[in-house]
Amino acid sequence: MADYSPYSFSKINLAACPFAFWLRYHEKLKGVRNPIFDLGSVIHLILAKLIEYIIAGKEYDSDQVILLYMRATVRDRIDELRKEVWLFEKYFEFNPELVVGVEERMSINRDGTAGKYNSSFLRGILDLIEIDGDTCIITDHKSQFNVLSDGDMAKHEQLRFYCFMVMHFWPQVERFITRIYFTRYGVTKSAVIEKDQVLRYGKRLAISIDHIEAMDKWPAIPGDTCTIC
Ligand code: SF4
Repeated sequence: MADYSPYSFSKINLAACPFAFWLRYHEKLKGVRNPIFDLGSVIHLILAKLIEYIIAGKEYDSDQVILLYMRATVRDRIDELRKEVWLFEKYFEFNPELVVGVEERMSINRDGTAGKYNSSFLRGILDLIEIDGDTCIITDHKSQFNVLSDGDMAKHEQLRFYCFMVMHFWPQVERFITRIYFTRYGVTKSAVIEKDQVLRYGKRLAISIDHIEAMDKWPAIPGDTCTIC
């Protein structure tokens, strides 16, 4: 049995193609980063900063926030960033009084206790967490081109992974409202996930990780992860 922890959602997802997983975690090949993903990384940082300003009730200059996180690879796309910030300010909704985490690094050990981010069992960064009594609202910001259907939202594995993480820190939560805010369009889609669904997901997650740790063959299986390698 091999131990590849800490496991992020993307690491677990990559194991859908064992060869890609072997390249990344045995051969330590990172591949060539596609600069098209840089816009998404930059807008994530910008939105997190704006949310922090809004929570603190501070005035801000959105152009200055954009420049704060600007990278050379997206310098010629500043108009897209400005548009996404404008959409965010106009359409993104959250309750600052309920926020318990922004760009929150969460990690748990194999026994379910809180772990250190770089040496835990599971880890992830959650864009926005709000708690309202026994309900938790988890929002992920995505800069992808396609807006997901209600059906895809209801079975979104990454959001369930985040629910599973949150459940360990706020055990009073009985219900999750999982949301994706699509930064290109100013659209938010959501789904309701009950705690028992998250518990069932946790069992599937454990089976997936057992499978990864027992892998000793590395066939290439084309699929969703083909964009990675
Ligand atoms: S391109 Fe697709 S099939 Fe080939 S290694 Fe990558 S994920 Fe696997």
